[in-house]
Amino acid sequence: MDYNSWGDKAERLYQCSACGNNAFNLKFCTTCATNNADLTYCDSCVGCHDCFGCVGLKKRQYCILNKQYTEEEFGKLRAQLIAHMQKSGEWGEYFPKEVCPFAFNETIAMEYFPIGKEEAIRRGYKWRDEVDEPLDVEKVIPAAALPDTIAEIPDDVLNWAITSQKTKRPFRITKQELEFYRTHSLPLPHLHPEERHEDRLKRRPPRRLWERTCAKCGKEVESTFQPSRPEIVYCESCYLKEVY
Ligand SMILES: [Zn+2]
Repeated sequence: MDYNSWGDKAERLYQCSACGNNAFNLKFCTTCATNNADLTYCDSCVGCHDCFGCVGLKKRQYCILNKQYTEEEFGKLRAQLIAHMQKSGEWGEYFPKEVCPFAFNETIAMEYFPIGKEEAIRRGYKWRDEVDEPLDVEKVIPAAALPDTIAEIPDDVLNWAITSQKTKRPFRITKQELEFYRTHSLPLPHLHPEERHEDRLKRRPPRRLWERTCAKCGKEVESTFQPSRPEIVYCESCYLKEVY
């Protein structure tokens, strides 16, 4: 319940994320990916049992805040901690947003639930204004001045900054990226990587459903394509008949 990510032999996960391989009875844990059982408020542990508030442990048991206890001490201290957290109102909820190392606008949350800086701060999230690093390059070239084909791009491009055709925001090309473009005969991009990401997101349908009617048989269907979009929407059986 209230779990996100995959599950493979996973049981009784509550308010966890990314903990799904051979996992049993985890509460309020994150990224405890494999072979864990009976963990509470743990982060990035592997092969652990009976731990509370631990980070990055491997194959350990009866640890609290990464410190080793006996089974008896562990049981006692764990009960005390839970009682304290119940009093302070911390118990029973996932890690609070205050401990998130990322600002709201740096996370995928911003893509699905976009809010402004003021609203984010009012709700208690961090916010980080984007500042590009000062340029330390041999040459700055506007995207429009780049040669049209990848064959004309010299290796030296790795030492340049390119300024986006849309916003003039500078970006670099990495070695691996250049190899990829050469292998596939693709021209260099003209936009900053984040602008490219935004453009791709705009092409995805939003995460909601509209009531539509099949353009062929008139049957009522649900679709992520809103009625104002130009795409034709078919029901599943009409679609399958059309395609196969
Ligand atoms: Zn139909």
